[in-house]
Amino acid sequence: MTAPRSIAIIGAGQAGGQAAQSLRHAGFDGRLYLIGDEKHGPYQRPPLSKKFLSGEWPAARLALLPDEFYAVNDIECLFGTRVTALDPAASRLTFASGRTLDFDLALLATGSGPRVLPIAGAGLDRVYSVRTIADVERIRPHVSEGQRLVIIGGGYIGLEVAAIMRSLGLEVRIIEAADRVMTRTAPPAVSRYFEELHRANGVILQLATSVGSIARGPKGDLVVATDAGEFATDWVLTSIGGIPEIALAAAAGLTIDNGIAVDEHCRTSAANVFAAGDCCSFPSARYGRRVRLESVQNAIDQAKAAAVSMLGNGAPYDPVPWFWSDQFDTKYQIAGLGHGADDYVVRGDPASDAFSVAHLRAGRLIALDAINRPRDYMAARRVVPTAAPVDRAALSDAATPLTELAGAGSG
Ligand code: FAD
Repeated sequence: MTAPRSIAIIGAGQAGGQAAQSLRHAGFDGRLYLIGDEKHGPYQRPPLSKKFLSGEWPAARLALLPDEFYAVNDIECLFGTRVTALDPAASRLTFASGRTLDFDLALLATGSGPRVLPIAGAGLDRVYSVRTIADVERIRPHVSEGQRLVIIGGGYIGLEVAAIMRSLGLEVRIIEAADRVMTRTAPPAVSRYFEELHRANGVILQLATSVGSIARGPKGDLVVATDAGEFATDWVLTSIGGIPEIALAAAAGLTIDNGIAVDEHCRTSAANVFAAGDCCSFPSARYGRRVRLESVQNAIDQAKAAAVSMLGNGAPYDPVPWFWSDQFDTKYQIAGLGHGADDYVVRGDPASDAFSVAHLRAGRLIALDAINRPRDYMAARRVVPTAAPVDRAALSDAATPLTELAGAGSG
């Protein structure tokens, strides 16, 4: 492979910013473009539903890299610039302005967007979602004590927003179609814990409830119609999951399979185009299937892997994922992917506000959810990759360090 002379990164988010950094770090000294349609440079999204939403952090604190980083590292930043077409055969990008840019290699780091609620009224004023700084800025004027908020979707982002809004004195109702919160990611014991936590803090939880429509009410408020009745509210947050941003890749004829399909070296079906982060799925030997992740860890680690692969030195990317969520004063941390578990073991007492749930498959620890037990979480990040059998009885004893169970060293 000849060394690339120019690399265009499309999407200036967590993965795009990391890739720019990693390419320079790995010695790439050609032209490096970082193109993003938001006006901001790469920033952290997790605080958008946590400390930035609460007002505790200013926007400046979200930036992933200091402003001078880009000039010092000779990165050509095109922020506020949308890429409208990718032509792998011609190695060319087209921008919304009509301008074109040629590249030797491109990295798609286009992230994911909010899934749109397919109901009447989803596009009304004061119906929001939270993905960007601009979204939070739109929400802010409605954040005041006594305002009524309906959150549609009881996933981790909806729950985080609920926790912040309750602590700021809003009346919060969550409407969730499933019979428990965080169904896609959490085991039942964890869902139950968070349902109790939210109820104890005054959040109204409406589980197993489907939303039919949102309409403007007679007093200028909004009315959310569900199969459990109508709820009047001042504003609505929809939070029903993310969908990978594949438009450019699909129009370019790249293979799509639950996101932009890449191989273990982050290469798409076009040899000169790579992808990383929320937008793509990769083949995982560890999990025996293609995996697409929406997490900071994945965006960072896959962008690093893609950067070295673009320079010809890559190793297969197949991580043990990890994730976290903050709700009220509870720290929720997850190591591994729990899909396919055939057994769960609870360590500690959920009533004590500190417990873990181990996910087992065929007697091996495949994932762990830790609620206010950071040591279990840290240990699980070391034990899960070993795929070693664990002693179930010892596992259920919360006093036994996890690492002792699988001979993975001291905890
Ligand atoms: P992004 O960071 O979304 O960046 C993609 C960028 O590409 C965007 O700026 C987008 O506008 C731009 N783009 C897309 N198409 C184009 C185009 N055609 N032209 C130009 N630019 C384009 N993860 C955790 O691990 N822990 C958490 O607690 C957590 N909390 C979160 C809370 C919220 C509210 C959100 C929204 C996400 C959270 N995440 C969390 C997920 C995490 O932030 C994402 O997984 C991560 O940002 C993905 O990085 P990315 O670079 O793939 O995509």
